[in-house]
Amino acid sequence: MPHLTPAIFFGHGNPMNAVLQNSYTEAWGALGRAMPRPKAILSISAHWFVPETGVTVATAPRTIHDFGGFPRELYQVQYPAPGDPVLARRVQALLRPLPVRLDESWGLDHGTWSVLCHVYPQADIPVVQLSIDETQPASFHYEIGERLAPLREEGVLIVGSGNLVHNLHAYAWGRHIVEPFDWAVRFEREAREMILAGEHRPLIDYERLGRDALLSIPTPDHYLPLLYVIASRQSGEAAGFPVEGVDGGSISMLAVKIG
Ligand code: ZN
Repeated sequence: MPHLTPAIFFGHGNPMNAVLQNSYTEAWGALGRAMPRPKAILSISAHWFVPETGVTVATAPRTIHDFGGFPRELYQVQYPAPGDPVLARRVQALLRPLPVRLDESWGLDHGTWSVLCHVYPQADIPVVQLSIDETQPASFHYEIGERLAPLREEGVLIVGSGNLVHNLHAYAWGRHIVEPFDWAVRFEREAREMILAGEHRPLIDYERLGRDALLSIPTPDHYLPLLYVIASRQSGEAAGFPVEGVDGGSISMLAVKIG
């Protein structure tokens, strides 16, 4: 097997993690220091969930503050990583004949920068974002992940950013210590076992996994980035969980590392 750059799904959680120091952000930083430096990063973020597949092509993607009602300091965060138009076109070629629009208007949303500002605080590794086509089923996203896997042989770190369990209706905003909901704990445990076993089919067909899954994934946006990451796993490759925890009772901060 050629040397493969890892692929990682990050649970990003609350955007405030960008400006906080906590167990999650410390673990993200440790990951960045432990991994071989990638040539570039391809990020699939829950927050670019649109009716098409697009890839950012700007040489200097803007930092998008795509949220409301947070403290001023969060709006002042900039993550000035360069873009990588060559990688954007490579993504387009790998996914052909699927139409992939070269996008000049998006940039890096907080799903990407609130994590990367801890993993690679120097912001000196080029970052390209790929949108999630909201009109397509989970199997489509998994297949895209499979087709992007060769990028891992080319030194590209594939990052998915979302949350395995993401139920904002149940989330305890502003309260400090909240026990995780039982359904969140059960679904996370079930998903972890499937990931370790390489049983991807039930994770793709998650809507058939029952009530725990439906409460954990009330909308697909934060879950689908996981499928891109696990789809890139090659036979015999390790999978692990370098970051763990449940925030506010209903947001899993689990990270899944392939390779
Ligand atoms: Zn989010």
